[in-house]
Amino acid sequence: MQAETIKTGKCPVCGSNEVYDNSNKLIQGYRPFINVSAVKGFTVITYICISCGYFKEFIRDEDIKNEKLMNKVKEKWNRTSDGKD
Ligand SMILES: [Zn+2]
Repeated sequence: MQAETIKTGKCPVCGSNEVYDNSNKLIQGYRPFINVSAVKGFTVITYICISCGYFKEFIRDEDIKNEKLMNKVKEKWNRTSDGKD
């Protein structure tokens, strides 16, 4: 089962369907960008609920599927853990 997420178009906080995202805004340099290396990184898409003001950011689906980019993350970033392993 998929976790409850605003990406489905339904706000997980208030249950409203008044959810909008900026994934159609393709203007370079306008959307937030998370750098992985000097030239590679993630484009951030913001989802907002205009009923309660909840918002959440995700990287693009195409970035998630980008194996080279994810390998770069594995190489450069710390793996998040609770320190018990
Ligand atoms: Zn809401």
